[in-house]
Amino acid sequence: MHKTIIFSLLMSIAVYSDTLLKPTSLSSDLYLQSILDSNYEENIDHPNEFLDFNYGDRVASPEQIVNALNKWSKQSSKLKVVEYAKTHEGRPLHAVFISSSENLMNLDNINNKISELSDARNTTDREAKQIINNLPAVAWMAYSIHGNETSGADAALGVIYHLIASEDKDIINMLDKMIVIIDPLMNPDGRARFAKNLEQYRGTAPNYDDQSLLHTGDWPYGRTNHYYFDLNRDWLYLTQPETQGRVSLINQWRPQILVDGHEMGSQDTFMTGPPREPINKNIDKDLIKWGNVFAQDQANAFDENNWRFYTGEWHEDLYPGYSFYVQFRGTLGILYEQSRMAEDGVKRPEGTIQSYKESVHHQFVSTLTNLNTLLKNSKSLYMDYWDGRKYNVSNDSKYANKSYVILPTQNIGRLNTLADKLLAQDIEIYQNSKPINARDVLKQNGDIESDYIIPVGSMIIPNNQPEAPLISAFLEFDADINEAVLIEEKQKRLRNGSSIMYDTTAFNFSMMYGLPAITVPADISKNLKSWSPSPAVHEVNEDALMWAVDGADDRSVAFAARLMEQDIQVRIIDKESILSDHNLSRGSVVVIAMDNPEYKTLYKVVKKTANDLDISIVSIESGFGSEDLPDWGGRHFRLLNKPQIAILSHEGFNSYDVGVSWWSLDHHLGIRHSQLNSSLLSYGDLRRYNTIILPSGNPDLSNYTKEILIDWVKQGGTLIANNRAARLIASATNFGNVKLLSETFENSNSYNIDLMREIYSLKDDIDKSDVNSNKVNFNINYPWESAKKIYTKDELQMRDKWQSLLMPSGSMVAARSDQKHWLTFGTNELIPILYANNPILMTGGNTEAPIRIGELIKNDKVEEVRTINWSQLPKGFDLNVRMSGLVWPEASQRIANSAYLTREKIGKGQVILFSGEPNFRGSTIGTNRLWLNAVIYGSGLGTNTLVTQ
Ligand SMILES: [Zn+2]
Repeated sequence: MHKTIIFSLLMSIAVYSDTLLKPTSLSSDLYLQSILDSNYEENIDHPNEFLDFNYGDRVASPEQIVNALNKWSKQSSKLKVVEYAKTHEGRPLHAVFISSSENLMNLDNINNKISELSDARNTTDREAKQIINNLPAVAWMAYSIHGNETSGADAALGVIYHLIASEDKDIINMLDKMIVIIDPLMNPDGRARFAKNLEQYRGTAPNYDDQSLLHTGDWPYGRTNHYYFDLNRDWLYLTQPETQGRVSLINQWRPQILVDGHEMGSQDTFMTGPPREPINKNIDKDLIKWGNVFAQDQANAFDENNWRFYTGEWHEDLYPGYSFYVQFRGTLGILYEQSRMAEDGVKRPEGTIQSYKESVHHQFVSTLTNLNTLLKNSKSLYMDYWDGRKYNVSNDSKYANKSYVILPTQNIGRLNTLADKLLAQDIEIYQNSKPINARDVLKQNGDIESDYIIPVGSMIIPNNQPEAPLISAFLEFDADINEAVLIEEKQKRLRNGSSIMYDTTAFNFSMMYGLPAITVPADISKNLKSWSPSPAVHEVNEDALMWAVDGADDRSVAFAARLMEQDIQVRIIDKESILSDHNLSRGSVVVIAMDNPEYKTLYKVVKKTANDLDISIVSIESGFGSEDLPDWGGRHFRLLNKPQIAILSHEGFNSYDVGVSWWSLDHHLGIRHSQLNSSLLSYGDLRRYNTIILPSGNPDLSNYTKEILIDWVKQGGTLIANNRAARLIASATNFGNVKLLSETFENSNSYNIDLMREIYSLKDDIDKSDVNSNKVNFNINYPWESAKKIYTKDELQMRDKWQSLLMPSGSMVAARSDQKHWLTFGTNELIPILYANNPILMTGGNTEAPIRIGELIKNDKVEEVRTINWSQLPKGFDLNVRMSGLVWPEASQRIANSAYLTREKIGKGQVILFSGEPNFRGSTIGTNRLWLNAVIYGSGLGTNTLVTQ
């Protein structure tokens, strides 16, 4: 009896698992055409050997693809597998070189010739022609950079097999004349996440509903990498290991074409290049011509197969941080966008079902067609490439008389990071050891200075060099956009609020990094030496009173954070100081021996931490700062408090902002923190944390949950919210006094008066006789009195409705930084802010606004008070808002004088709001510093210090 029960139980388990393992159909009968239909060498394994399904029917896992590559590299001499990086999760990234075995043995030599062809300063026309005659074509074919856009990598698996195993003469001939480099899956971590979702949500019957979880997957979805970064926006700023390794190899090989195989909406068809306007003006026009040649052949192939497709439409090319960065280096970029079929296929409105296998076939045929077009045109493409390379270094080019200069800074860490990014793109950078006189210099705020002295130690990048177009795309303050594009954009905005801009319209490095820079209309190339980073000095004496790192360097925040993590007491000097002859910027971090009596080998820990961060450190023997400079016992030496950090996460939050917050803490600081599921707020124990981060998003927080959060703040917590989460806090009724603009029209006057106080407090002149007069003055001029216009609530509302249609498209706006506030350590007075459709924050009462939109410029010629919506500008001032990219004048008015960063004390704690995403794509280093200050210094400098008994 007993036995029988166990037996039947086992039976039912077996039957159940059978059900899932044997689905009613794998949809393999939806598409009967064969993808791999050549005659193939028998000693090379068919892809089916590595899969547990028939090739093309389902999604191959990263491990299955890697297994195939490893096996094939043993079976064929036509393929060489190069591992160019590892992902955060430890998965290998591969570039598969496929060519005749003869070419593969000659790779170094071929690569050298490509380098020679790329530098027209050292190669003659005759040599170039000779090189071109002997060079094989080079193609870089890359797929599935978005992990849930799976068909590309499956196509790549088939293409690799087809190229190495086909006995077709055309293929063998192609490999004699071409090196095909295949990057089969650019984002294995994202693909693995999506593959897990597919496994998780599979039922027994096929599912053709593109809204089902099988097709969409779970938050944070498979598109991004481990830290939820969109790798196809990372090619410019190179923050992720996938991109860093890949760009290094692509740049070494300078392929003629680079194919980037994606997927788009399920109900769409197939799209390929060339792009439509706006197109970045630094891209060689020849590439647009070639884009059409490749598109024509691809279109013919699709017509033959009766497959629908289109070109252009939403595919623009202004932002240089897509894979199309290669276009600025002379490579033709070709985009594939296949409609997404997940695994089973998708039912369409006309009643047909498109199969996954067909989508793989589209990518497969596109790939082979593009390779054939390249084979036919390789020599002409090389000739155009050579012409471009000559143009870049010629004295007649538009790049010839231009140089970009990054001005000297104490922020050595940030400057070194910039240098690394530029060097990774083969950009030659220099520095000057003597001042240089320059004329008509363009500054970041748009002003031109006729006589300018470039200070010693500037980073100088002459534009006249082989990578001239890329330099221009990265460093010019403004990417030029055609008037016709602007007209179309404005029409769309006003008509229905839509936009033709696909990505940000501002991206230049110096503003993203918050580094002051100028553009000089001359070729500065004489008396320069190659750039070398200033070496860190580690001067750590055992018996010093204290040790200090300069607060201007971003790494000082990590220094403080890592020491506090080890329970070392750390202070910050909140004012510029000079101690033992060392100049220390505002926000410098000090470790005082007396604060840490229990630490016997304190100096060793301090030294090691500075070493690990490669940041300079000095020993201070005396705590006396002369005159009114800070002394070590005074109130400017402020004790920090160890941050205990939680990031709220999951459904409802923007995965990009969650990921980049997480990455920022890991990458910039390397300290412990927790990601919390936001549902835990209502039942978890928040006392473990003194700093909670709300990334951008619109999480569904109940009133009860909000009460818990606000109580936690009142008890001493620091709550930091970004972008849409800041909107949530500002619109909540009991979360302090920061308000959204739309809620302030009733009493806009009081906001204006607070603003006037703030601006007038910057004035540095006074009429002493007036002050000392004993008689009442009947003629005092109050700031608002002479204003010409004051708008009614109705007028402000109407303006706002209109202006809100024209918000910036990921553009740079100027902001002024309160140089006395601890949140702005390490930033300059003018700070560029990446701005999109941000919540517009208004501060009143005791709320602080350490960063406000608009750079105040003194201008004595302005003799009247001028009104901008709710605010006024006193006489003697101008206001700059736009810095780079598309900022409509109406938007400038709307956001002028609003707060970008707010801080408000509530109870014993505080709320800090960022109106934008301060860590956007890990590349807005300028505003990232503000955020790191908030996260690491917030608890110590902005809340009541707890004295434990
Ligand atoms: Zn994509």
